[in-house]
Amino acid sequence: MSRAELKPSTVVGKMIGVLDLQGDVFEHLDHLERLGVAVRPVKKEEDFNDLAGLILPGGESTCLARLLQIFGIDKIIIQKFHEGMKLWGTCAGAILLAKSVVGEASHLGLIDIAVERNGFGSQMDSFVSEASIPRLSGTPLPLTFIRAPKILSVGKGVEVLLRIDDYIAAAESPDVLVTIFHPELTPSLAFHRYFTRKCGVEPGGEETASDPSWEKTSWMRLARITPIERQAIRRTPREGIATGD
Ligand code: GLN
Repeated sequence: MSRAELKPSTVVGKMIGVLDLQGDVFEHLDHLERLGVAVRPVKKEEDFNDLAGLILPGGESTCLARLLQIFGIDKIIIQKFHEGMKLWGTCAGAILLAKSVVGEASHLGLIDIAVERNGFGSQMDSFVSEASIPRLSGTPLPLTFIRAPKILSVGKGVEVLLRIDDYIAAAESPDVLVTIFHPELTPSLAFHRYFTRKCGVEPGGEETASDPSWEKTSWMRLARITPIERQAIRRTPREGIATGD
């Protein structure tokens, strides 16, 4: 299956988008699909039509911020947010949404939190752990931190969902969710289910602690070139591109 084969929404305003500029886009699309949610990768202005919510994935916030500006998507996100679109930022996505970023200018500034980029150190200091977040699940949730930021403080109107040692790992306002870890890289669907409900969309399926059919490579089914795209490449062969199946 590829992006082109993602199920279209039949209900207006009931689709959830994943910002498709850089980072772990397919992983989020895969998780939402497992909940039976109508999903769409979002890159152009028209992709924002009828979105109940948008996920800003993890990746590299400097790169993402630059692309947001170059394509004018920052202004569209802010406008749609004020029209009711909910937002969830994971890791780099949380940095983009923060009102304040230590030592740097902030980007979208849509949730009153202060973050410190790379708060745990380098890529080599990435780690996994687990924690209980009663609002989301009755069982501990797996947490994956990849060169994560730390949320240092939250302002008025922002609730802490998970505090560990000297940092905050997950928080939310009525319209924005932020996590410094990556639920899309674990078999747990709890955060995607929670965000889907925050968007006013009812997810399908049983509320199990994890999806036993999920594998680290599950997202790859979405990244494959479709037969249709392969045909197009064959019709307009370009030098140096292998055109066979
Ligand atoms: N360290 C990255 C940044 O500052 C975020 C890493 C991630 O999204 N996993 O943008």
